[in-house]
Amino acid sequence: MEFVFVSGNPALDLAATVGSRRDEPIDLLAAPADLERWVAECAGLPDRVSADLVTFEAALSLREAVYRLALDRVLDRPFDPGSLGIVNAAAAGPVPAISLGGAGVVHVSGDLRAALSQVARGAIAVLADPGACFKECGRAGCTRIYLDRSRGARRAWCGMDECGNRVKAAAYRARKRAPVRP
Ligand SMILES: [Zn+2]
Repeated sequence: MEFVFVSGNPALDLAATVGSRRDEPIDLLAAPADLERWVAECAGLPDRVSADLVTFEAALSLREAVYRLALDRVLDRPFDPGSLGIVNAAAAGPVPAISLGGAGVVHVSGDLRAALSQVARGAIAVLADPGACFKECGRAGCTRIYLDRSRGARRAWCGMDECGNRVKAAAYRARKRAPVRP
């Protein structure tokens, strides 16, 4: 399956690498190589990192901590202290180096630890922002948490392609199946 970056924050996109969390969770990060690919595809992170098992486990624990804290924001309840500890520890490390190239392209370099630190800092920035609107996707079974930055915060789905169109297509099929009343 492909990685999807529609949450509005890399940490939330990382948390969403587990889909369908309440039913039968689908984990897109099954092995360190999956994490390497995720980092490469995520904007603002190094293009190439290598993941050993220890750092892979650290990434998964950061992912679950971010999910828990984001869910705390969705449900408007106090942050889970254990998850705060994990995110704060990850954020304390060095971050990737950036440089601007002649063509105006930013080059990001660093190892996986640095990439995770960057993700954790991004998580802290948004979790600490009282104006950030955390929402869970309206498609039953998606469970992705995203930032709603739309005017009036009326966005209902994590992404139109990912979920919005699927919900609309299902509703259309249901209407077509419904018996026509005289
Ligand atoms: Zn969704």
